[in-house]
Amino acid sequence: MSEVRVRFPPSPTGYLHIGGARTALYNWLFARQHRGTLVLRIEDTDEERSTQASIDGIIDGLNWLGLDWDEGPYFQTEHAADHVAAAERLLVAGRAYKCFCTREELEQKREQALAEKRDPGYDGSCRNLSAADIATREAQGQAAVIRFKVPERSGTLFYDDEVLGRIERAYSEIEDFVIVRSNGKPLYLLSNVVDDIRDRITHVIRGQDHMTNTTRQVLLYEALEAPLPVFAHIPLTLDIQKRKISKRSHGEVVAVQFYRERGFLPWALCNFLALLGWNPGTEQEFFSREELTKTFSLARINRANSVFNFRPGDEKFFTDPKLIAINEHYLRNLEREELGTLVQPVLEQAGLWQPAYADERRNWYLDTLLLIRDRFHTLNDFATAGRAYFSDNYSIDPKPLARNILKHPQLTEWLPELAARFAKLTDFNSETTEALCREMAAELDIKPGILINAMRTVLTGQLAGASMFDILASLGQDTVVRRLSTVEHLYAS
Ligand code: GLU
Repeated sequence: MSEVRVRFPPSPTGYLHIGGARTALYNWLFARQHRGTLVLRIEDTDEERSTQASIDGIIDGLNWLGLDWDEGPYFQTEHAADHVAAAERLLVAGRAYKCFCTREELEQKREQALAEKRDPGYDGSCRNLSAADIATREAQGQAAVIRFKVPERSGTLFYDDEVLGRIERAYSEIEDFVIVRSNGKPLYLLSNVVDDIRDRITHVIRGQDHMTNTTRQVLLYEALEAPLPVFAHIPLTLDIQKRKISKRSHGEVVAVQFYRERGFLPWALCNFLALLGWNPGTEQEFFSREELTKTFSLARINRANSVFNFRPGDEKFFTDPKLIAINEHYLRNLEREELGTLVQPVLEQAGLWQPAYADERRNWYLDTLLLIRDRFHTLNDFATAGRAYFSDNYSIDPKPLARNILKHPQLTEWLPELAARFAKLTDFNSETTEALCREMAAELDIKPGILINAMRTVLTGQLAGASMFDILASLGQDTVVRRLSTVEHLYAS
């Protein structure tokens, strides 16, 4: 184990979304690359908004993505005493002070400052209260927050960001910020730093939306006499309208769970997320876990924001086409047994699973998955577009129905005739069925395509798919004969 210690500290106030998962992935990759430690810390200090369901969802999501952690989950609320103690230390050291200004006073001052076009930040009224003054106010029961005393320095505060380079901010622009509320509860800015110090975090890899926090936190590290971690701020994820992706404004299409439910492969999502904000510097698009762990680097994280190109409401391209393409790639390249294992729960969920698929029909099951997967986008397609392979109860898509069936009413005779001939085959396989089909088309003086397309439509309900004669072999003689024997009902409506 090296000295690298990183953390993923979600606030459990909603589901794990694309942006959060990407942050977790980058931390995971960095930890694994350096044989370091990844700490999972649940930042549950917002008691009103934190929920157990969210904690479970985040942990579930990380597990599904295969992003394992080495320490934790730690819970921030369990360390509230540490956070308060740190604030007390800062008070004693003169790096923080009690502020008795009421909410109304602050609001009034703010409005006045804005009206006079002055800086609306805290004006420092309570910065230099005497000990006696403080004692009197406390004796009167006046409530106080604790504010951090930003040093009166000229010039700028700076830190070197691994992604963005040197970040500077004028001291004069940083107002004295609250670190403990009047009810004694420490605020995120402080708790987060105290926990990072205690957890000996060496690298803070998080979204650029935290940069205003970082400048203030740099001051907290200094005041708490702790070494500064390395900061790496990763770009935000925006939608195509350049709005920041959030649970609140985008709903489920940005939730990791959404992709899981739709049959995406966890590593395909990770591969996509890796490229959403990080540039390998080559044309390579697909990375195995090992390759990505080797290749990933903070220095190649993009500075500019990333665009997650999904289109809510669009049935077909409900998500980023690149994510779909990556998923298809992994789906086509999954090794046979692994594919079988991943499809099983999808079939179970759809009521299409049979115990024999794990047993005497294992070979048939796996061969069929390999046969039909080429046009599929997600695992769920095995239960939808692929339903006819596992059940007689499937529907026929309107397009092939119109094009391949309704256009040729003679099929009500041709297909049952074909079925009768298929029934007589002693060896029913892709070669014998093909020969038979072509022979019959020649007899009827029609293009074999008419019979082939009609069979595909009736037998699979789909417009396109694998080689028709391989499909016949997979479905088997009984099923094929049964399904082709009567097709009149297809003309019924
Ligand atoms: N709890 C914070 C969040 O979820 C953590 C930010 C950080 O990485 O420090 O945004």
